[in-house]
Amino acid sequence: MKSWKTLASAAISSMAMMAPSLAAEKFITIGTGGQTGVYFVVGQSICKLVNRASKDIKCTAPSTGGSIANINAIKAGDMDMGVAQSDWQYHAYNGSSKFEGDKFDKLRAVFSVHGEPFTVIARQDADISNFDDLKDKRVNVGNPGSGQLATMEVLLEAKGWSMDDFALASELKPAEQAAALGDNKVDAIVYTVGHPNGSIQEATTTTEANIVTVDGDAVKGLIDDNPFYAEATIPGGMYTGTDDDVKTFGVKATFVSSSDVDDEVIYEVVKAVFENFDRFRKLHPAFANLKEEEMIAAGLSAPLHDGAAKYYKEKGWME
Ligand code: GLU
Repeated sequence: MKSWKTLASAAISSMAMMAPSLAAEKFITIGTGGQTGVYFVVGQSICKLVNRASKDIKCTAPSTGGSIANINAIKAGDMDMGVAQSDWQYHAYNGSSKFEGDKFDKLRAVFSVHGEPFTVIARQDADISNFDDLKDKRVNVGNPGSGQLATMEVLLEAKGWSMDDFALASELKPAEQAAALGDNKVDAIVYTVGHPNGSIQEATTTTEANIVTVDGDAVKGLIDDNPFYAEATIPGGMYTGTDDDVKTFGVKATFVSSSDVDDEVIYEVVKAVFENFDRFRKLHPAFANLKEEEMIAAGLSAPLHDGAAKYYKEKGWME
């Protein structure tokens, strides 16, 4: 029979053998959005490439409330990275708008991804063709923590409206809103999201619905006054019920982190994405037209993370 001493030393040496690999393994989390959105695919795709490329990093990308929830989770240290709209990246870094008095100095840009038009979809029987027609209608304005709800608040303020101008302002999640539109619980739904997208396809094939124009002086003012807003068009024919191009405004989806996250980790993450870029671009139709040179500059207002800058310099993409 072995003495307790032998057993104890065997246990200690087996712990010692395991220790180095455990210490080297890094768990990282990417904040995404609703499961039916494109952010979820961004996060899942990045993790897939990172987990294939690195033995040491274990990447997960859970569903979250969206942009605002992700920025707050990174700030709190609960998540390492996340996807966020370019308008909310700007405001979080600068301490403006919703982030007034709550500046996040350590916020860092990594790269931008697809464009996200502010997209309003209405039941055809509600007779809504322009955003102004939403007055006194039942509108799903977006779940708390989402970019669409926050950007809706900005647009309402610019128009001199408030949530009270709607007969109902519900806050259902993206995964619930297509059904609410179909069941006639709401007249219109709002989603700031990349196209084409399964969730809007679902809404427009299960219900007679059309995409709504979002233009006018308030929208023009937002675009003129803010670098992170631009005119956007949702192409006609992309969704059933909308044959002509629809004008709106939009932002970019961006991938962000914090200066508290190791340069090495960010370096490995961007390397995994850009060394497998063709594969990445095929993971969602909204990624099909992504270009490296645009992704490292467009829509980024926080400073680049040092780990990302290191990789982009090595590639000769920046000085
Ligand atoms: N733009 C949305 C947000 O910031 C998320 C869109 C998506 O999940 O693809 O919350």
